[in-house]
Amino acid sequence: TTAAGRDSGGADLVLDSVTKRFADFVAVDDLNLTIPAGSFFALLGPSGCGKTTTLRMVAGLEQPTSGTLSIGGRDITRTGAHERPVNTVFQNYALFPHMSVLDNVAFGLKRRKIRGAEARAKSALELVELGHLAARRPGQLSGGQQQRVALARAIVNRPAVLLLDEPLGALDMKLRRQMQVELKNIQLEVGLTFVHVTHDQEEAMTMADTVAVMNAGRVEQMGAPRELYELPRTAFVANFLGKSNLVPGEVIEDRGDAVVVNARGNRLTVLKERAAAHHGRVLVGIRPEKLKMMWPQDAAGDPDNMLHGRVADTSFTGVSTDYLVDVPGVGRLGVFSQNHGQQLARPGDEVVLCWDTAHAFGLDGREDSS
Ligand code: ATP
Repeated sequence: TTAAGRDSGGADLVLDSVTKRFADFVAVDDLNLTIPAGSFFALLGPSGCGKTTTLRMVAGLEQPTSGTLSIGGRDITRTGAHERPVNTVFQNYALFPHMSVLDNVAFGLKRRKIRGAEARAKSALELVELGHLAARRPGQLSGGQQQRVALARAIVNRPAVLLLDEPLGALDMKLRRQMQVELKNIQLEVGLTFVHVTHDQEEAMTMADTVAVMNAGRVEQMGAPRELYELPRTAFVANFLGKSNLVPGEVIEDRGDAVVVNARGNRLTVLKERAAAHHGRVLVGIRPEKLKMMWPQDAAGDPDNMLHGRVADTSFTGVSTDYLVDVPGVGRLGVFSQNHGQQLARPGDEVVLCWDTAHAFGLDGREDSS
């Protein structure tokens, strides 16, 4: 095998009630996380939510105000950064410009006088598919290739946990998408625990098996990407992961396994297992690709779960046509529709939106001001 880190395996990373204060400001607020060995974990959230601070505490570059951290059952809260079984790949990976790619990767091992440093560096480079460029200088590589050298340099140390702090931030969009797939494949191959920090929801969803969405120093929700997208538990998570069409209303009826919500005279049903709140003010969310658009004359039958509106705008994206539909009293909803050659609605057209109840989700609406 050429997998440089395979024999070390990964290790569980546990954060137990970790809080970080900077003077009066709470940057990370009582964080509890268990990141299983070998997982690809993403910390996702807007700027300033505490992602980097969390990562820096794991790396040992920042000391928590309270709480403990452990890796593979070993308490590392007070272990120095260099003694931790952790490596970090930053956005601004500083490679040594005067050294060959191979020497860059072997540098740390050689300094620690580890035997077979060169062979290990070679296999790490092969893992990131740069074996053929080992003799080059960093300046002779593309941005994406340099990024892979930085990754090889981190992996060659066989850390139990690899921390990635916006490692693709400096790359252009196309290269970024390509590197996301490659990073994911490398993680599968080496089996290390990867903790990736990003504010890009698509990046987190593409790569990670588990995503923790952070907001103001706390984790709002954690789960598999699909679960977070399809069943968000808060408006923050729903909106951060994409367009969510949150319709405000009031629960008016309990049907056992579902509740009926009155949204300005429209009756919407939400399955209880898909509702974070069952009483009072709620928000009913339906993702844009789950909405079906019909002409009013075709919308017969059950009047529940239907919204009458008027197309305000359309845009063709290639894979889909996106519509904005104004629903009186409810607001402007987004609809993504695959193009199968059907007749397209135009601005001003009256339409009816409907959906499968199994796709709607319910949120607590008490905080909502709309
Ligand atoms: P970004 O995506 O912009 O990097 P982030 O989620 O990584 O954001 P952090 O860098 O963890 O956010 O910062 C969290 C909060 O803590 C921010 O409000 C930041 O201003 C504050 N903060 C971070 N480091 C310090 C520090 N050394 N002293 C004071 N405040 C700090």
